[in-house]
Amino acid sequence: MRAAGYYRPLGSDARSEQAAISSIDRFCREGFHTLARVIGPGEPNSSEADQYGILVSYLAGLGRGEALVVIPGPRHLSNTLDGLVERLVELDRVGGEVRCTDPDLPDPLQNGLESLPFADRPPVQNRRVRESLMSKAARGEVLGRTPYGYVADTDGTYKIESSEGAVVRRLFDLYVGDSAETGQDPGIELSATGPGLRRIAAIFNREGLRTRSGRPWTPVTLSGMLRNRVYVGSYVRYGMRIAGNHDRIVDREAFNRAQLIMASRSPVRKTRVLSPYMLSGLARCWSCGQGMHGLERKSRWTRLNGSTTTRSYRYYACPSRSTVVMEDEVVEENPHPVWRELDLDRATLDALRAEPIDSLRASFSPILSDTSNDNLRAAEHQFMESVRAVASGRGNVSDLSTPLGELKTTRNMTESNLADQDGDITFEKALDAFDTADPGELHVTIASFVDRVIVHADRVEPVYRAGTS
Ligand SMILES: [Zn+2]
Repeated sequence: MRAAGYYRPLGSDARSEQAAISSIDRFCREGFHTLARVIGPGEPNSSEADQYGILVSYLAGLGRGEALVVIPGPRHLSNTLDGLVERLVELDRVGGEVRCTDPDLPDPLQNGLESLPFADRPPVQNRRVRESLMSKAARGEVLGRTPYGYVADTDGTYKIESSEGAVVRRLFDLYVGDSAETGQDPGIELSATGPGLRRIAAIFNREGLRTRSGRPWTPVTLSGMLRNRVYVGSYVRYGMRIAGNHDRIVDREAFNRAQLIMASRSPVRKTRVLSPYMLSGLARCWSCGQGMHGLERKSRWTRLNGSTTTRSYRYYACPSRSTVVMEDEVVEENPHPVWRELDLDRATLDALRAEPIDSLRASFSPILSDTSNDNLRAAEHQFMESVRAVASGRGNVSDLSTPLGELKTTRNMTESNLADQDGDITFEKALDAFDTADPGELHVTIASFVDRVIVHADRVEPVYRAGTS
């Protein structure tokens, strides 16, 4: 596999630099990776940000192929865990998969969890659990459930399940437009490549095909399968990548084409700071009590004249709902709510406006730094949980993009809250602020009236604060 090395000077002497380069070199030799390039500090004047920029544009220039980014350790990307996650998410977007040269901990997330501080707290060691997982992974054995298309063989490895395998093959064939099958149904609109995921889900469901747990197929489930390298025989778990671990269901060419098509349908975007969600840290799922995540989805469709349109939609969703990207877990009558951002914001504001002014006055307590600190702690906690989940093999690096955005938003809000301390927030000002358009300010205002907003499938239930008077 093609690889690019990356390091930054962590010690002042030339020896540490030499050690970094030779560890990258050794890692690639032992793994039979082609080391195409090593990006280091170069001229003394180039900043680390510039150096990192070179890495990103190098990867982007490769097209969306696979490339390893080999680093001596996570500190070469960032000094903090959240900083590391931010870079891993961005590198993943441009097709870079990061590996550390440390043979005990090649996975950058696992390594980062054990070596980088987060929110001023030192890293946590969890060596024993990891070691047992790693030794299983090294043997390519089945951990937990097998992916759709495979069953566990008696010796603990993956074996193709023939009817599921046929569905996987059809999915790829349809998606990359290789099959004559797409022409069979006159109702199916064909684009230059194959039909989109919504169409394919509809085709499968119409034929009565179901996921393993007997549920209808959804675009989310299918896109997770299209991205899963397990179908080309690769085993990627706990920082181990074992090519040719088991029989493949689709060939590499079809797999790569599917990745290209997916990338072209959702263009690579630069990481940007999300505009804040008004109810961040306030909205809670009625069913499980977790904080609802703000998230953004793009949808794209083709007009009659052939031109395409994209629109993005912002939602609040219970994390129990958004993390269940794994196949067959997307439930139709999901107890965990999902709302359009505008609808939930509006419903909450309406509920507050409908509240008698006296009871609003009684609950009013301008937020103190304690509360905003609580919100921040909650966001940090959620972030850590997501990082741990991905580090232990549930989900992909890209799944961390939303929790990272939430963390940043909450941090921004906490800062603005603290700034508001000096200017006094009066009850009258707070009421006026209901008409303010800026979600960040509205957040502060709403948080001075309600402790949380319980979100049901079709209504909201603000829980008012005890008040200071
Ligand atoms: Zn929930």
